[in-house]
Amino acid sequence: MTKTLFAKIADGEIPAEIVYEDDRVVAFKDIQPQAPIHFLVIPRKPIASLATADQKDTELLGHCLSICASVAQQEGLTESGYRVVTNIGEDGGQTVPHLHFHILGGRSLQWPPG
Ligand code: AMP
Repeated sequence: MTKTLFAKIADGEIPAEIVYEDDRVVAFKDIQPQAPIHFLVIPRKPIASLATADQKDTELLGHCLSICASVAQQEGLTESGYRVVTNIGEDGGQTVPHLHFHILGGRSLQWPPG
């Protein structure tokens, strides 16, 4: 199976500004930030998107969300608030086929998104 860009980042083959990592997930700064603070949380397991995660991944998905919150806290976003987004497929605007959660904060975000 061809490695995704994010799998290469998780394995240290492509540089990224890592803000957290453990044996199951990696969090790194988005290369094209859409807010003053914008980082991504990915599972090391190459799940293509939330739509293709299966029941065996339930604990891993919970861990990803827990890390979204703890890294947001580490980045000083808890009090002001922030947004967690995962894009799925073409209409969802997904460009990298490796499950990732965007964490955006540091400014007031519009709703609904475009
Ligand atoms: P999505 O459009 O939801 O698939 O999000 C992919 C995100 O990955 C975009 O916000 C990109 O800016 C970001 N991205 C692409 N390449 C890199 C990279 N090499 N390092 C960090 N972020 C990246």
